[in-house]
Amino acid sequence: MTQTLADLTRALLDFRDERNWAQFHRLKDLMLSLSLEAAEVLELAQWKRDEELEAFAADPEGRALLADECADVFAYLLLLADRAGIDLTEALLLKLAKNAEKYPVATSYGRSDKYSRLPELPVGKAKRRER
Ligand SMILES: [Mg+2]
Repeated sequence: MTQTLADLTRALLDFRDERNWAQFHRLKDLMLSLSLEAAEVLELAQWKRDEELEAFAADPEGRALLADECADVFAYLLLLADRAGIDLTEALLLKLAKNAEKYPVATSYGRSDKYSRLPELPVGKAKRRER
C-alpha cells in the first residue's frame, strides 16, 4: 500500500465532486457521518460475545463487513479533516506526544487507568501531567 493520506483524500474529493455532493458535505454533516459510521462498526459487535466477535473478524466474510465499515469511518475522517483544514498526520503525531506525556511508561505500563488516576512518577522522574 503506497497511497498517502493526500492521495486518498484526493480520490474521495474526486468521487464527491463527480457527483456534485460537496454541497452536502457541511462540517456538521461530516461530523455526524463520522459518528454514524463508527456506530455501524459497533453494530457488528451488537449481541456477540467476545469469542463470537473474534470468530466474526477472523472469518473472511465477517472481516469484509468490518473492513467496509472501517473504510466508511476512514473516508469520513479524511473528508472531515480536509473540510476543517486539519493535517491528520500532524494531528496524530501531536496527540501521540501529548499522550506520551499523560501516560509515562513508568506509571502506565500494563495499566488501563485514565491518566488522572495513575500514580505520581517518582521524584526526579516527574513530568508535569496535563489535566
Ligand atoms: Mg457504513
